[in-house]
Amino acid sequence: MSTSAKSSKRHVRVLKFGGSSVGDPSAIRRVVDVIGKSARRQRVIVVVSALSQVTNTLEKILQENMVDRTALLLGLYRRHIDTAAQLLSSSELTRYRIALGEQLASIIPSLRRVAQRVQTHFDEESIRAAGERFSVPLIAASLRESGFSAEPVDGSSLISVGETTDTPVDLGRTNDQIQSWYQSLPTDQIPIVTGFIGSSRCGNTVTLGRGGSDFTAALIASALKAELMERWTDVDGLYTNDPNRDRQASRYTVLRMEEAEMLNSANRLGMHLHTLTPLMASRVPLRVRSIHSSGAGTLVIPTDDVRHKKTISC
Ligand code: ASP
Ligand code: MG
Repeated sequence: MSTSAKSSKRHVRVLKFGGSSVGDPSAIRRVVDVIGKSARRQRVIVVVSALSQVTNTLEKILQENMVDRTALLLGLYRRHIDTAAQLLSSSELTRYRIALGEQLASIIPSLRRVAQRVQTHFDEESIRAAGERFSVPLIAASLRESGFSAEPVDGSSLISVGETTDTPVDLGRTNDQIQSWYQSLPTDQIPIVTGFIGSSRCGNTVTLGRGGSDFTAALIASALKAELMERWTDVDGLYTNDPNRDRQASRYTVLRMEEAEMLNSANRLGMHLHTLTPLMASRVPLRVRSIHSSGAGTLVIPTDDVRHKKTISC
């Protein structure tokens, strides 16, 4: 790899936005603002979840006793279009309407098989994965409205997994795919990548488990040895307990990776369970922040790497 490719890698940040931070038009405006500020300073890769509650609705659609699948699906369509209508000008809205229509059309055969109860595991996975495929073109369009060059990217072309959610990611293949994709990107383009989605060797969509967008972002950050992964949510950092339920919960300012890994494995940090593994391996620090506050959140640093603590700006 050339020296210039290496040095451009060091300047990339991976920004991940969870469903609650892209839940409605005003949240999406904040997200565009955060991405724009960051993109003016260095290269960024953005990973986005489905809009809040969308994956839960898709899970409902998969339930056997669900009779009103069409109503739920129409509700999802309307929510996305209504959100887009508040953010986009008419040409971008038309483009988004087409993209959303295509994504919906692509899951219709799977939905039909679900209704007939003859679906395969992969039909279910494609339906679960649809939320991210609906949200990503919307965030890309919102960025273009603000004058940035932004394009949607399907994470299934980057992340290679086994045939089921429980099989491990094929790290060698995933790293190769991410690195060659990144090399081919125009430097001024902001890629908006679907979180949560990988693909099997046979090309079927496989999801990474609930909350899997964290893992997508960590895999990308690790493959590119990013300067930092930023996990943006509606809570301003990692807490000793869920701050929405426990008023005594306090925020960690800095955590060592191993400490964070222990807490996360015990399910106490609210991140996807595999998030920290690739970050630890590549020594990529993580910052957890809120789109609602300007606070520094929590910084998770590779062990004993005090340099990171001092040099990473917000
Ligand atoms: N949308 C998926 C979920 O709700 C993945 C994610 O949010 O990270 O689990
Ligand atoms: Mg989600």
